[in-house]
Amino acid sequence: MDAALKHLERNHDRFLNLLLDYLKIPSISAQRKHDADSRRAAEFIRARLDEAGFETGFFEGKGLPTVHGARLVDTKKPTLVVYGHYDVQPPDPLDLWESPPFEPVIEDGEIRARGCADDKGPSLALVLAAACWGKDLPMNLRFVIEGEEESGGTVVYDYLKVHRRDLADAKAVAIADAPGIARGVPALCYGLRGIAAVEVTVKGPARDLHSGTYGGSVANPATALARLLATLHDAKGCVAVQGFHEGARPIDDVERKRLSKLPFDERAFLADTGSPALVGEEGFTTWERRTARPTVEINGIFGGYEGEGSKTIIPSRATAKLTCRLVPGQDPKRVQDAVARHLESHAPKGVRLEIARGHTAPAAYMDPETPWAKAARAALERAYGCPAALTREGGSIPVVSAFREAGLEPLLLGTYAPGEKAHSPNERYHVEDFLACIRAGIHFFGAPPA
Ligand SMILES: [Zn+2]
Repeated sequence: MDAALKHLERNHDRFLNLLLDYLKIPSISAQRKHDADSRRAAEFIRARLDEAGFETGFFEGKGLPTVHGARLVDTKKPTLVVYGHYDVQPPDPLDLWESPPFEPVIEDGEIRARGCADDKGPSLALVLAAACWGKDLPMNLRFVIEGEEESGGTVVYDYLKVHRRDLADAKAVAIADAPGIARGVPALCYGLRGIAAVEVTVKGPARDLHSGTYGGSVANPATALARLLATLHDAKGCVAVQGFHEGARPIDDVERKRLSKLPFDERAFLADTGSPALVGEEGFTTWERRTARPTVEINGIFGGYEGEGSKTIIPSRATAKLTCRLVPGQDPKRVQDAVARHLESHAPKGVRLEIARGHTAPAAYMDPETPWAKAARAALERAYGCPAALTREGGSIPVVSAFREAGLEPLLLGTYAPGEKAHSPNERYHVEDFLACIRAGIHFFGAPPA
């Protein structure tokens, strides 16, 4: 352990320069004109794995390659998979960047560049952590670094299917692609919400009607939709759809207590939203509402005349796009059915409904007390000098489900400060967090669970 940590100390500058070089590559997976750049980024991270003694390769598919590397030191020792991605979000809008997104700069201890926190910094950090161990690596490691995380590609999923057997020696996968909970406080995220999308169109007259000639005599689809949508929640902000909460895992007292102790800055959170106030389901805290309670949100609502000035019509139709965020235990398809039944049974008189079911993904719950989770938490604590916060997140991470299906326990490590503006202009990453993430990797790889 000491030798690995010393190696890191001696190589601070070199490692930082490697990250800066990596950040100069505009590996924007959403844009075909950057495919060659994306491949350069794949070559770059593969070269780092080569240097660290891994046996590496590209898995090619319909899109950008997934880089894989294996270092199997002893079949009797445990094996960990490490996941990351080398692609980045598009940097637009460019004029909001204070320095060019692919010309990394370091100011006040922060790196500014697209992809520095999400996910080039943390994923490179773990490769370098393996390198720090040199030939004394105490466990087997397999890296899977994909190039289409930000654009919803499928190559890594094909890789997981085709190479399922190769990964069978591993029990867990470390995913360092999430923020911690506060500056300098890392996190292990053990819960993610799922999703179920539904689109409803309310249809009335066969064409837009003159609101003077016909107004008051037929149902207005826009009014009907507004009434219909208003029935989705009760006065306490709870989802009022029958059967919606079926199977939903409640937040128990132990967890509530733990979540209430998270160093969550509610004021800063409110300021970040720009909303006048935080509101939500009665009886739950903001953190619980946004991570551990199921929701129905209206993502878009349209119909009728939307141009300049007025146009006196009764629109023939109005549409709303809905997505439900789900908690562990809820079945996404059953939720879609429940919402559809609710809408049908609450439809006002004089209109017809058309309901379309969209994409779904189940929520995930990962026990934070397993031997692997404890090993990850211990490594984070040693590296950051404070215990890792146990958190849940409100979004979904598809690759987490894919790894679970491949039989691996996901360990979602939050290693950088929240508010690093991932996906936004002026993305940043504290140099300290980069070094702490390397240290966390060194500790983790050095102390696998028995
Ligand atoms: Zn990411």
